[in-house]
Amino acid sequence: MTPLRPLAALPTHEVTNMPPHLGDQDLWGDDAALREGVEREGGGRAADRLAGFGRRAGAAETFEKADLANRHAPELKSFDRYGMRIDQVAFHPAYHDLMGLAIENEVPSFAWRHPGPGAHVSHAALTYLFSQAEGGVMCPMAMTYAAVPPLRRTPEVGDEWVPRLLAGSYDPRDVPAAEKAGATVGMFMTEKQGGSDVRTNTTRAAAAGRSAGQGAEYRLTGHKFFCSAPMSDAFLTLAYAGGGLSCFLVPRWTPGGERNPLFIQRLKDKLGNRSNASCEIELHDTWGVMVGEEGRGIPTIIEMVHYNRFYCCASSAALMRQGLVQALHHTNHRTAFQKRIIHQSLMRNVLADLAVEAEAALVLTLRIARAIDEAAAGDEGAAAFARIATAVGKYWICKRAPGHALEAMECHGGPGYVEDSIMPRLYREAPLNSIWEGSGNVICLDVLRTMFREEGAVPALLAEFDAARGTSAALDAAADALKDELADRNDMEARARGITERMAVALQGALLVRHAPAATADAFCASRLGSRWTGAYGALPAGVDFGAILDRAQPAARAFAA
Ligand SMILES: Cc1cc2nc3c(=O)[nH]c(=O)nc-3n(C[C@H](O)[C@H](O)[C@H](O)COP(=O)(O)OP(=O)(O)OC[C@H]3O[C@@H](n4cnc5c(N)ncnc54)[C@H](O)[C@@H]3O)c2cc1C
Repeated sequence: MTPLRPLAALPTHEVTNMPPHLGDQDLWGDDAALREGVEREGGGRAADRLAGFGRRAGAAETFEKADLANRHAPELKSFDRYGMRIDQVAFHPAYHDLMGLAIENEVPSFAWRHPGPGAHVSHAALTYLFSQAEGGVMCPMAMTYAAVPPLRRTPEVGDEWVPRLLAGSYDPRDVPAAEKAGATVGMFMTEKQGGSDVRTNTTRAAAAGRSAGQGAEYRLTGHKFFCSAPMSDAFLTLAYAGGGLSCFLVPRWTPGGERNPLFIQRLKDKLGNRSNASCEIELHDTWGVMVGEEGRGIPTIIEMVHYNRFYCCASSAALMRQGLVQALHHTNHRTAFQKRIIHQSLMRNVLADLAVEAEAALVLTLRIARAIDEAAAGDEGAAAFARIATAVGKYWICKRAPGHALEAMECHGGPGYVEDSIMPRLYREAPLNSIWEGSGNVICLDVLRTMFREEGAVPALLAEFDAARGTSAALDAAADALKDELADRNDMEARARGITERMAVALQGALLVRHAPAATADAFCASRLGSRWTGAYGALPAGVDFGAILDRAQPAARAFAA
């Protein structure tokens, strides 16, 4: 699609000193950290596919559709014209196009359709590429990806449903899944009285036939307070059965071909993520089939949650990357005080700092992805690392994203605050990953739980610091201080955020000193590992090579290094 060009002159005045439209982006080709990281962590076999998808996801047309899908928010259609309940959500056509683009390019299915080394690394890269264009569509992508492992553990259900989730086709029709070319899955956990504390769930499940337990049919009654992507074909749902809190697959249509009673009460009027519908739902004698063992609902669904938390890392890293690209583009084409803004010394500090943070987020995400791949191959150490590093990454990467979006917006001056630009959308999207799939405190408490319950978790983390030992005095000191901190068991709950933050920063530092260019790694260690760091952007210390960092961040504008 040809990018829009502003008219050279208007009757009243000539427009000068405004950037050209960014146009098509090569999200893979322009991102050296991504290309190197995917290769390093074992995803190289998907490089050609990622290169192609990076151009599709980065096309101006895709970004325009994302804008449309968010501007024209979904609408609830409770009834048809004859008064029959249909509980459907209508979306702008752009939303369906984006769903098709993501599914047909295997965003939710790649890791499971192409298992083996690098499968989850490539999946992370696909997620990172598409999330730069649109976050709302990525919610059902993430849930569909994450639902596969728990479904596979119940073959009575998984054998029927998993092939639908991996079909690679988007079929938006509201008809029984058996009649569709492909399906997606959502998740019903949160209730009004408790989201983090799902043991307070009040939804009940009664056996519908003579049998009970895994694979048996139930009828569910209750409510769910946050249900995203309600046009998904089925939902992993928590409810109390006789044997305790259990997990069920609740489809939109019963196996007998009838509309399952899932009553959408209303759609949430959300801050961001507006293309994606999130709703409140009531279940009245709703058909479901038990997934996992009776009374083991939390461990069953937590496996899905774990993969969703990993998605949050990739998605927040993507938001940072796109905010950075937009900020670099704007400041490279705009002049203030007789100099391009990107050449103003203080702005170079801000931009370089944003670039360092974005690369730190990506390097950690891809390292976790590799651990997930190795864990799938039976490596227990990798599994322990994946378990703790996913929680650490979910907390820290998602926590850093809103401030990053704000700073990238500020680089644009006034136009960054205006809806014509993508920046308000990125800014509204940024806090979400911090809240859903476990809000900050809950994630930090999960880090503590993992430390105590999984013997291999802390040693796996410390091994990363050991691998980097000797490369940076600041990093070695941070790793040693962290070890001492972990040895002190007093009042750990109240200290959980500080502990998690220091784990995250030391981990990112250890990865950057081994894998990133010296300019980026040195800037990270000199700022984040120093005692004077406040977390604000643009305070990199003297001696940082801004030119090298900016040049790496966006080679399309080589002038940065000047
Ligand atoms: C846009 C959106 C879409 C969503 N989609 C879905 C969905 O599809 N399916 C679904 O099931 N849920 C969904 N959720 C719900 C989301 O997962 C929950 O909101 C989240 O888990 C937090 O639960 P809560 O809202 O009940 O907050 P609460 O559990 O009440 O927590 C409130 C605050 O207290 C903190 N807190 C809780 N326990 C502790 C503790 N022990 N110590 C210290 N602090 C604590 C939390 O970190 C949080 O900051 C969605 C949420 C949003 C915003």
